[in-house]
Amino acid sequence: MLSVEEAQREILGRVRVLPSERVDVLAALGRVLAEPIRSTRRIPPWPNSSMDGYAVRAADVRPSAILRVVGRVVAGSLPTRAVGAGEAVRIFTGAPLPSGADAVIPQEDVDARDGVIALRSAVEPGAYVRPAGEDVREGDLVLEPGRAIGAAEIGILATLGRTQVAVGRRPRVAVLSTGNELADLGTEPTPAQIPNSNTYALMAQVMETGGVPLNLGVVPDRLDAIAERISQGAEADVLVSSAGVSVGELDLVREALVNAGAELHLWKVDMRPGKPITFGSLGGKPVFGLPGNPVSAMVTFELFVRPMLLAMQGRRGTGRLTVRATALAPIVNRGSRRGYLRVVLEARDGRWDARLTGEQGSGILRSMVSADGLAVLRGDTAVAAGEDVEVIVLREVSP
Ligand code: AMP
Ligand code: MG
Repeated sequence: MLSVEEAQREILGRVRVLPSERVDVLAALGRVLAEPIRSTRRIPPWPNSSMDGYAVRAADVRPSAILRVVGRVVAGSLPTRAVGAGEAVRIFTGAPLPSGADAVIPQEDVDARDGVIALRSAVEPGAYVRPAGEDVREGDLVLEPGRAIGAAEIGILATLGRTQVAVGRRPRVAVLSTGNELADLGTEPTPAQIPNSNTYALMAQVMETGGVPLNLGVVPDRLDAIAERISQGAEADVLVSSAGVSVGELDLVREALVNAGAELHLWKVDMRPGKPITFGSLGGKPVFGLPGNPVSAMVTFELFVRPMLLAMQGRRGTGRLTVRATALAPIVNRGSRRGYLRVVLEARDGRWDARLTGEQGSGILRSMVSADGLAVLRGDTAVAAGEDVEVIVLREVSP
């Protein structure tokens, strides 16, 4: 039996990063940067004022000194004149500092009248002056490839004049659900059927991970039908199926994958939920056979498919935070497998508390609905109330 980390290493060892594509800068939000961003600009281009006030020579500024106001400069224009001894220039926030000046006195700190200002106290050179290049210098490596592009990255790209940027291509992921019992969305389940939820939860997980899902629908537990449907996913970069991977006589996904030409690497992974997962390559593309139980399908997607989809986009890291949280009530992991238990997180005094979402059955999809994270418990352990537990955070949590 492999540990989760061993299985993840096996999967990531087979990643082929997809080619990058150029997109408009705003469309890059949430994508993975695929090029190093070097600055060809200096920002700010010149020293400028961070206040409305007067540009002065710090050496002239003593309590009760009087300076002559000899000019005025606003943001969007250049100074027309230097500041000489005993002089000041009226200046506004963001305006370039006139030459000769090395400090700004905020307007509220002077008494202004009849073209002169009276000073009240000394000022340090550099006061209220934003130096040239304090944000970005020419030649700076501003963003490294492999990082997720957020709002601040978009802002910096705009600062650097980038209208377009190279990002990792979105993986196309074919999603297939197998099972005689499944009624697809839009049809009313017969008395012997249950609704297909995996297709939609998994497609949503694909989208959350930056991929583009391709719905292969529902296919009955028949070898030829499964193999035929798998071949319809050929244009995708990855295939993810759910159900039919255990040892029952109707568990045909592995055989169908082999019939379709896949080379399989099958594992029992030391985890719960999650039965053996099937992972393989079909024509050089990764294929996953996830377990059918809705919670197992989502948790195995989280732990195995998500890292691969991110790596295919060139992303470094999983983008998930792991926190230590204090158990509000006992959290018990039954059995010897590593447990991934669904918990609600609550913030208290800057720390996290965790409690189970309720019953942890792998068919209870509502345990995922209320889960902020997965508490990770080594085999046969119990975390007592008040003890700490490690939690993988799955989503934004509000305090
Ligand atoms: P299996 O792995 O085929 O044994 O399926 C395990 C359990 O998951 C069974 O109770 C199935 O009915 C259920 N299941 C399988 N596929 C889906 C699906 N697409 N949506 C909801 N439940 C499913
Ligand atoms: Mg089945």
